Parts: sequence; structure tokens; C-alpha cells
Amino acid sequence: MQYGSQSRNDSFIKRLLFVDPRSPSALSSATLELAQTLIARPSVSPADGGCQELMIERLAACGFEIERLRFNGVDNFWARRGRERPVFCFAGHTDVVPAGPAEGWSSDPFVPTVRDGLLYGRGAADMKTGLAAMVTACEEFVRSHPRHRGSIALLITSDEEGQSVDGTRRVVEVLEARGEKIDWCLVGEPSSERRLGDTIKIGRRGSLSGRLTVHGIQGHVAYPQLADNPVHALAPALADLVTRVWDHGNAHFQPTTFQVSNLNAGTGAPNVIPGELKARFNLRFSTEQTVAGLKATVESILTRHRIKYTLEWFLSGNPFFTAPGELSAAASRAVQEIVGITPALSTGGGTSDGRFIAPTGAQVVELGVINATIHKVDEHVRMEDVDTLQRAYLRTMQLLLT
Ligand SMILES: [Zn+2]
Repeated sequence: MQYGSQSRNDSFIKRLLFVDPRSPSALSSATLELAQTLIARPSVSPADGGCQELMIERLAACGFEIERLRFNGVDNFWARRGRERPVFCFAGHTDVVPAGPAEGWSSDPFVPTVRDGLLYGRGAADMKTGLAAMVTACEEFVRSHPRHRGSIALLITSDEEGQSVDGTRRVVEVLEARGEKIDWCLVGEPSSERRLGDTIKIGRRGSLSGRLTVHGIQGHVAYPQLADNPVHALAPALADLVTRVWDHGNAHFQPTTFQVSNLNAGTGAPNVIPGELKARFNLRFSTEQTVAGLKATVESILTRHRIKYTLEWFLSGNPFFTAPGELSAAASRAVQEIVGITPALSTGGGTSDGRFIAPTGAQVVELGVINATIHKVDEHVRMEDVDTLQRAYLRTMQLLLT
């Protein structure tokens, strides 16, 4: 079903989301309504599409001080309620990845659409329902605990899915420069796998990419003695790189992996030995490795095979790890109480903006909805999970700040 007009939209939301206002879950409908409004504001990275203003309006109304931080056209904000420590902070992003080919979607990716208890739309899982749950959890918490201990904060960016240069990284620089600390940070990224709350991330692997150019000499395939084929030069080195066991991981991390993402050579003509080969690769690495060590290993393998190359490195993030502590204990207990399962504490998956926050000394965990459809066509979330997540966020705040 699709929302055509505003009135259809309203009546549909009422019919579907009506909850007895006396029940403690009356706010659930507020979470879903806010999530749908956010999805309806297209915000393909690094655009924000007005999502942050909507969040800011709601947070300011319940006593948060707002600081808008715009860097090179990228919108971010820092919101804080309270002046004391400990500081509990929700972190997340309003930007989404492109929808991809529209015809692949069953409904308009920027029209929040409900079918069979699922809410569809770009950002439904990654991570506009998480943002909505943060805002309504804050509203509900502040209403029942206006004089909570410590501070509640939100660090929101619209540059997570893209370059991640003018987003969380920059906001953290501002906070660090004035000595403002986050003690506990809950990132609302979709961390769950099969069931809401089955996985809480307590760290992430590092990500190191390389752009490799192998230099050869172009020539006629019939006269290889007059040429130097960069494909042939790289092949045995590549075999070493892809079969290498980098490490065995450790108690908290999967083993380090090496993957080639792009490989290009050739002029298009079948009778020409190419003069150059370009490759891109990525290492996802555990805390068993260092960036310097990985670079040295790759370069020594290329050198051992006598390859003439240039290599540029790009570090997306070092691995980070939050040892089990108050924050992971509170989030786990909240999931146990609200969902009835015990979450696994994991460091798997891709990188997140937690990589910029953890180095400040903050405890960082990630807890959000199921990630099975993120970045895909027909991205969706189970509607009941949105309310459950909101209650888990609320319970986490109660455990830490009351
Ligand atoms: Zn995300």
C-alpha cells in the first residue's frame, strides 16, 4: 500500500498505528510516524533533506541545547540536555545510499510504504527508524525523568554513507577541542541479524584500502620479448595475497581478510599487451594487525615478485573495541528485558562512525534493527521492531541515567 495524498496518509496511519493512549506503548505510534516522515524526506548522501531540522525541533522542545555544525555543505548537529557527566550519547546519520534503479523497487523508495507489517523505503533500516526511536525515547525519558542524572546527547551527521569526512569525524574534533567528553555512545546502526537485538556490536574491524598501479611495457602479443606484461607480473603476487592467512583473529575479532574489488588492464584490442594494470583492494583487519604492518607485508610481497608499481593507501578506520562495561551491560539487559533474548556481542560487519568516537575514550556500542535489506532494493524493517527498539533505547537510558 502506498500513501497517495496527505489525508490518505493520515487516516492510514491512524488505522494502522492506533494504540490505546493509556497503554505505555502509546508512543510507539509516534516513533513510526516520525520514521515515516523522515523516510519521506529524500536525503541521499551527503544531503540531509530536512531530516535534522525535524529532529532538532523535537529535541529542542524537550530541553536539548542544539548546536548546528555545518562543514563544507554537510549538515551535522550536536544536541545535549544537562551539563553533568556521565554523558550518554545517541549517534547516527540522516543520509542514505542512493535507491538504485527505481524499477527494481516494489514501491517508491522515498514514499514510506507499509505492506504485511513491514515498512518499506530507503533508510527504513539504515537508519531512519533508529533515529526516530532515539528521538521518541528521549522525549519519553525526559517526560518521566526531567531531572535525570548526567547528560543525554545526540551526535547526528548526514555524511556517513559517503566520504565520512565532514561528518562525525569533524563533530568529534569540535568536542575534543573544547574538552567535551562522551562517556557512553549508542550508535543506532542496524546491528541485528535475524531477530531484533540478537547482535550488539561492541567494536568493528579496521578498513585499509589500496590503489595499485602495475607498470609494464605495452607491445604486440606476438613479440612479448619486446614488452612487459603487467598482468603476468601481478598474477603470482596476487595469488600470494589472496591465499595468505593474515592472522587467526582473536576472542573478539574475525581473522583479517584481503579482497580485490577492481582489476583493470588492457586496451580492448586482442593483440596488444597492456602497458599498465590498475587494481583496488581492501583489507578488513582485526586488532591483531597494525596499519604499518599490513602495508609492509603487502609491499614486501609485491617487491619479492619484482613488480614495478605505485601504490596509494587509504585508511578508512582503525579497528576499535569496547571492552564489556556499563554501556554494553545496560544495552544487553535492556534487550533481555524488552525482547527476551540475550544479544551476542560482535565486532563483525562493515565500519561505522563509531570508529571516530571510540578513540576519544568513550564506550561505544551499536544497537539497531535487522540489517538484512540495508543498501538493497526494497529496504524494509518490521514495524513492530521499531517500537521494540524504542523501548530498548528507553530502558538503556533508564538503566544508565536514573
Ligand atoms: Zn548506516
